[in-house]
Amino acid sequence: MDKEQFLSVKNSLPPHVKLVAVTKTHPPETVLEAYRLGHKIFGENKVQELVAKQQVLPGDIEWHLIGHLQTNKVKFIVPFISMIQSVDSLKLMQVINSEAAKIDRVINCLLEFHIAGEETKFGLNMDEARKILESDEYKAMKNVRICGVMGMASFTSDRNQIRKEFRSLVEIFQTLRSDYFADSEYFREISMGMSGDYKIAIEEGATIVRLGTILFGERIK
Ligand SMILES: *Cc1c(COP(=O)(O)O)cnc(C)c1O
Repeated sequence: MDKEQFLSVKNSLPPHVKLVAVTKTHPPETVLEAYRLGHKIFGENKVQELVAKQQVLPGDIEWHLIGHLQTNKVKFIVPFISMIQSVDSLKLMQVINSEAAKIDRVINCLLEFHIAGEETKFGLNMDEARKILESDEYKAMKNVRICGVMGMASFTSDRNQIRKEFRSLVEIFQTLRSDYFADSEYFREISMGMSGDYKIAIEEGATIVRLGTILFGERIK
């Protein structure tokens, strides 16, 4: 990796924006290089790859899962994960809650919303989120902590479209905060922005950006 590039992007971010360095497809050595530059927050999108890296890398790394999570894989990450950014169903939350209860952890989660105009497979809409948050099952959960929202904009060169989608996520965040989390000190994160669109995301209010390519170069196929 190019250390100058890593540091110049990282240092260009406003202090209130947290950088999740996305290392998917890159070897543990790449994570370690960034770690040695003082970076501690990394994101992976696949459980198997995440666990393999976590096992060989320093224990004080904060790992974020940013990709779709299957319920049968929850148990592999619950012991160490800092945040699951891709929570998109009540069923998944129930499994996270019960696995976390077994080891007495509380897992930080973001609700993933489908904000892109294009067809993508994952993410909630507002109705689905309301249904979850109003359910007795959710209200009884003691080991899941919802810290905010996550979303991905369309893969398009239309900057206005991207901005519109980010604005819709901010609106969702604000609505949820006032309707369900007015008393929560934890509900404060808006995770949006990748290498191609993070500047727009920050202008629109991102508190977390998830950057891979711009930090580490093209992914390894
Ligand atoms: C891969 C990935 C990123 C990082 O993408 P880049 O364009 O390489 O910065 C961010 N978020 C999610 C959910 C991803 O899967």
